[in-house]
Amino acid sequence: MAFGFEVLHKDIAGRIGRLRVGSKTVRTPALLPVINPHLQIVTPSELYRMGVEALITNAYIFYRSEHYRDLALERGLHAVLDYPGVIMTDSGSFQLSVYGDVEVGNRETLLFQQQIGSEIVVPLDLPTPPSADRGRAESELAVTLGRIDEACSLVGEHSVLAAPVQGGIFEDLREEAGREVSRRGCIVAPIGAVVPLMENYRYRDLVRVVLAAKRGLSPGACVHLFGAGHPAMLALAVAMGCDLFDSAAYALYAKEGRYLTVHGTQFLSELQELPCSCSVCRSHTPESLRRSSDRERLLALHNLQVTLAEIARIRQAIQDGTLWELVDERCRSHPRLLEGYRELLRSAPMLEPFDRSTKRRFFYRGDESCLRTEVVRYQRDLARFDLVGRVLVSFDGRPAPGFDRCLAFRPPFGPYPPGLAETFPIGQCELPSWDEPMVRAGCRGIAALVRSNPGVTFAVRCEDRWSGIVTEEVPGIEVLVDVD
Ligand SMILES: [Zn+2]
Repeated sequence: MAFGFEVLHKDIAGRIGRLRVGSKTVRTPALLPVINPHLQIVTPSELYRMGVEALITNAYIFYRSEHYRDLALERGLHAVLDYPGVIMTDSGSFQLSVYGDVEVGNRETLLFQQQIGSEIVVPLDLPTPPSADRGRAESELAVTLGRIDEACSLVGEHSVLAAPVQGGIFEDLREEAGREVSRRGCIVAPIGAVVPLMENYRYRDLVRVVLAAKRGLSPGACVHLFGAGHPAMLALAVAMGCDLFDSAAYALYAKEGRYLTVHGTQFLSELQELPCSCSVCRSHTPESLRRSSDRERLLALHNLQVTLAEIARIRQAIQDGTLWELVDERCRSHPRLLEGYRELLRSAPMLEPFDRSTKRRFFYRGDESCLRTEVVRYQRDLARFDLVGRVLVSFDGRPAPGFDRCLAFRPPFGPYPPGLAETFPIGQCELPSWDEPMVRAGCRGIAALVRSNPGVTFAVRCEDRWSGIVTEEVPGIEVLVDVD
């Protein structure tokens, strides 16, 4: 079967891609809703009409139900679920580890998943929880890699193997796991066992673990973040380079009367308004929704539409090159998401090579913006400027006598020659009144230029209020203070 993953647009480490599965195509980033054949609160054919190009279901649930097992073996998953899109099956290793009363092995589940016509199959990996010590994480990773090896020889031409990246909380193991998965030529790489991190709002650890896996994986791998599907964290996950998500949240939350938003989750019982533009919210009041006999299903439809709309918004942000702005906005909805965002910013030097070179704009949104990939790249590129003689960096761009060259200054980036005034990021950078963090960041650009031109004499011309920051960030530099 023709199978491939093609990246079309990039922003940060996020991408818009095309996952080709035979004659079908899944646009990524994509959300794969989780379907339980016993509880089809929204049917797969409805999902398809909503534009859902792929879904995921659990092979173990089919396997252990005599009714569904026979039906799927006889007619195939697509007919049983009445869904023409791409179907991925999970092996059910999580369910097996929690309540595995029916034994199933790696070989058995892989053959079964193919027999029922799944297009993306998952081996029986060992999902190592974050609490596991290093010894356990290492030995479970070895078992998982062995099962991936076995899977490579068992998966035929009608399916593609999704090879899970495990390693628990240990970044070097996640990196090694990523490398091993890519070395085996696996294109779809789910990052597994991260649900406990997300359930406990450990977004900083999530970012560390995912970026570690990404360091090991080939840039051409289609990365699935297993169990992630809350709209508030999708932008952050895409920015790290995750392409596929799966979510049972829309249905599970609906069952508990919970209403998803891009800012977090609320209880329907506490809402006086329905702050959403989807068809359910615009045709109901909170009261009519609470009283509806169809409440669970309507709430699930809302939850799903909010999540799909967020995926669309993320894709548009990647096209526009405004994903940092969207991540910044989303991650301020919860302090623990903000921790994840700051961890991502700390990793900007690692993300920078993945980022695109020009964008529509750079909106300054506070201190965090100073750490973005565009700033890292600009200051790295400053080292390429070849300068001679006496050089003035003038904060307001006005020259002064006695210098061979005058450079202007744009925080948070740093100095720039007049020729770059219209190019990205200098020309597309929108700033409020200058503040200390952005000027300080810009001064680090001056320091980079000074370091890479040791034979040149530099001076900075600025207002008195910035002179202290300049001498702190660029020690020993001559400062000419504007008196007017
Ligand atoms: Zn809604």
